[in-house]
Amino acid sequence: MSLRLANASVTYPGATEPAVHQVDLTFEEGTHTAILGPNGAGKSTILRALGGLLPCDPGEAVLDGREARSWPRREFARRVAFVSSAEESAFPVRVRDYVALGRNPYVDGWRGPSPADREAVGVALHRADLDGLASRYLGSLSAGELQRARIARALAQDPDIMLLDEPTAHLDLGHEFAAFALLAELVAQLSLTVISVTHNLNMASRFCGRIVLVADGTILADGPPGDVLTPDRLARAFDWPVDTMIRPGLGIVAVPVAPGDAP
Ligand code: ADP
Ligand code: MG
Repeated sequence: MSLRLANASVTYPGATEPAVHQVDLTFEEGTHTAILGPNGAGKSTILRALGGLLPCDPGEAVLDGREARSWPRREFARRVAFVSSAEESAFPVRVRDYVALGRNPYVDGWRGPSPADREAVGVALHRADLDGLASRYLGSLSAGELQRARIARALAQDPDIMLLDEPTAHLDLGHEFAAFALLAELVAQLSLTVISVTHNLNMASRFCGRIVLVADGTILADGPPGDVLTPDRLARAFDWPVDTMIRPGLGIVAVPVAPGDAP
């Protein structure tokens, strides 16, 4: 499965300027790419365009040689799962039933869920370490558990590609690490292609082989963490002075500084 954003621009209705301008990105199977950048840079827009949720003009998102938005939605959803930044369920739902929503692209409307669908839900719950929480109500979960449930729902789709918008927002540092480690496991075990928007530069440098740094709707830098997460590039992207420390095995630590701070 190959996913590409081909020279794509996105302009929201009523906007005079494109939110994303001529972005070209191709993603390799079995890799985790982080999309980083300041608020309003266009990260979510890029992710939604990749997920076929927004029209591009010019350009297009292309899945396996076919324009994302021309795929039948069910077919597309069997290949690409999208975990949005936040969405609350309006009605009480148990974790198992919530994860089962990921089977919608497979379930036969007349016959309902098959044994294979139930099996896939069980596997997804297990992979996300939710076996003990399957009967709990979604609203009763902690932030870390809730994010695992949202990843499990995406996993139940049995996708080749997973798009996640700030999957670790609101998680403390331990739960954030665990979420990145879970994604790394899925990449390694299932050869899943993962693309995550995140603000955690350190976790991105440690867990993602590739970083796409976005600012003002364009790509400022794209490559391995060591090439992208440099003080000058980060300062330019975030419009704030930044110092970095490289900790072999632990990744890159970026620290915002004031102009008068000692280096
Ligand atoms: P990021 O995810 O990097 O914070 P977004 O992709 O959400 O940034 O937004 C990029 C730009 O597009 C911002 O200027 C934002 O105000 C604008 N934008 C985002 N969503 C919409 C929308 N639904 N309608 C109009 N403008 C939007
Ligand atoms: Mg966003």
